[in-house]
Amino acid sequence: MKRVFSGVKPTGHLTLGNYIGAMRRWVTVDQHQADALFCIVDLHALTVEHDPARVCRLSRQAGTLLLAAGLDPELCTVFVQSHVDEHARLSYLLECVATDGEMRRMIQYREKAALERGRGGSVRLSLLTYPVLMAADILAYGTDEVPVGDDQAQHVELTRDLAVRFNQRYGHAFVVPRATHPEVGARVMNLQDPTSKMGKSDDVGPGIVYLLDEPDVVRKKVMRAVTDSGQDVVYDREARPGVANLLEILAACTGGNPEGLSGVYESYGALKKDTAEAVIEVLRPVQQRHKELCTDPGYVEGVLRDGAERARAMARPTVDAAYRAIGL
Ligand code: ADP
Repeated sequence: MKRVFSGVKPTGHLTLGNYIGAMRRWVTVDQHQADALFCIVDLHALTVEHDPARVCRLSRQAGTLLLAAGLDPELCTVFVQSHVDEHARLSYLLECVATDGEMRRMIQYREKAALERGRGGSVRLSLLTYPVLMAADILAYGTDEVPVGDDQAQHVELTRDLAVRFNQRYGHAFVVPRATHPEVGARVMNLQDPTSKMGKSDDVGPGIVYLLDEPDVVRKKVMRAVTDSGQDVVYDREARPGVANLLEILAACTGGNPEGLSGVYESYGALKKDTAEAVIEVLRPVQQRHKELCTDPGYVEGVLRDGAERARAMARPTVDAAYRAIGL
């Protein structure tokens, strides 16, 4: 059975982008068709300014939301990254095969470093080495496939490079994984700025739909989405990014295709209205289950604890073998 690994960062509340771009596939496809692990990557949350208590709270909340979204601990492994030491152990070995040049070329690093500097802060070394830790997350499990949004494509490509390089230098230690992206909704954009992605790590904003937003809040955010001065609904990501984003969200939520849907609408208002309702319908069962799970935090804790145990047992042989291969 193929091995699938993916994760979310507890840097903010999970968004519609996380759901459409990644989580939904984990729930509907991956956990049924693969030996799948889903990780709350809390070590990655330390790469930027953070409040320790908030990271801890958001990790538990992400765990609850992953289960609410439909991950079933009987079918897959859900766990917290820092509970399994093998990630950090392997990350160091991979730092010994990665180069600083390839780290500095990473688009996310450049963007986030610029943001930190713009705020007058300094850039943590861990922000630079973040993709190496992500490579360790993936390679520790002999992962075949990494289902992620488009924004992670470059990091998975780097993971492949590091795996191949390590294998060539030190003997076969790692499976070389590949990224998979959803056909529709691989890059959900911010509703207020459709040229930038809807990212939970960004400041709370009216352009981001969170999985726990109440229906009225979703309606307000979608109805106020930035479009353009045109009238007709056409699907053109370059010239009409706002409208294209709404069409993609609607298509992702209803199972249609954005281009086909563009012919159905005669006004932006009608498109927004249907998009809002479609999002509300997708979020409704997740929110309902979330409410139920919140009454039993011990259950979620237990799932994460068991998940870490299972994950550790899977990762340890691979990481131990890599240590031996490199001469330790
Ligand atoms: P964020 O950028 O929200 O902090 P994470 O790094 O935690 O996201 O990513 C979790 C998963 O969600 C990844 O697979 C990522 O590619 C996906 N993802 C995040 N934002 C979006 C988006 N706006 N559109 C599509 N997929 C996304």
